[in-house]
Amino acid sequence: ATPTALLVGTGRGAQLGILIRGPEVLESTRKVDTVVLDKTGTLTTGQMSLVETIPAPGVDPAELLRRAGAVEQGSEHPIGRAIAAAAATQGSIPAVEQFVGNGGRGVYGLVAGTAVSVGRPELLGDLPDDLVAARGRAEATGSTVVAVAWDDAVRGLLVVADTVRPTSIDAVARLRRLGLEPVLLTGDNASAARAVADRVGIDKVIAGVLPEGKLDAIHRLQQRGQVVAMVGDGVNDAAALAGADLGMAMGSGTDVAIEAADITLVRADPNAIPDAIRLSRAVLRTIK
Ligand code: ADP
Ligand code: MG
Repeated sequence: ATPTALLVGTGRGAQLGILIRGPEVLESTRKVDTVVLDKTGTLTTGQMSLVETIPAPGVDPAELLRRAGAVEQGSEHPIGRAIAAAAATQGSIPAVEQFVGNGGRGVYGLVAGTAVSVGRPELLGDLPDDLVAARGRAEATGSTVVAVAWDDAVRGLLVVADTVRPTSIDAVARLRRLGLEPVLLTGDNASAARAVADRVGIDKVIAGVLPEGKLDAIHRLQQRGQVVAMVGDGVNDAAALAGADLGMAMGSGTDVAIEAADITLVRADPNAIPDAIRLSRAVLRTIK
């Protein structure tokens, strides 16, 4: 490969808002046949908002949101920011002590002496029957449901929702036209994932994975002989970005994701994904 052409390619990329770590990265895109896309913050804006508060029987909804918001003040996750912001609109929020953020699972802290957890419902204990039904209804629409627990019981659910980026649909269609298979990979639940996948035109969904599971999912695809590009934005995506044959970070993402990636997409626009792949193919064609 002529170094000059590769350098011109990385320079052209920079003009398009595609920051390529080094010329050698262009080579590694050549064989990519699969593009794994994170859901929250990549296909969606990652700007979540609280859409519903569902208390368990006998629980005051304002108290549910206040306690959850108190713990989530310590969180940088889009879910946590949405819950803390919603809680702040209904009045002052108590401080949180001994905050623990458990990446991809949830958060924990002491609120006025009570241990409160907010996170994946299946990790926080059995749900009362009517909450099981409410959870199913909310997830079927693509929303994300987290449970709030204190004193050893789930006290209610909070439903947060995100918006699919308007250009995700076009970007996925363009990836297919380039001969690439899109795959949605998320820590979120299967029905929320399916709803987003259907909206953007993705068939294959890998959902409910813990952060360490994202890297495993990449490895499994690679073991089947697929050459995998991974696109993500979160702390939870960093290992998968580093383990993929090509890692692409959304420029709106966390520093950890950007550092782990080979390419940074400065525009927070999924259309930059097919742009980057087309650019590298074009550069490599001029070299051969
Ligand atoms: P994604 O892959 O879509 O970016 P994450 O791996 O970040 O999702 O999160 C997976 C799941 O972990 C969430 O759907 C939620 O159930 C739980 N979770 C993560 N962070 C929090 C938080 N701050 N508060 C409540 N739940 C959380
Ligand atoms: Mg994400």
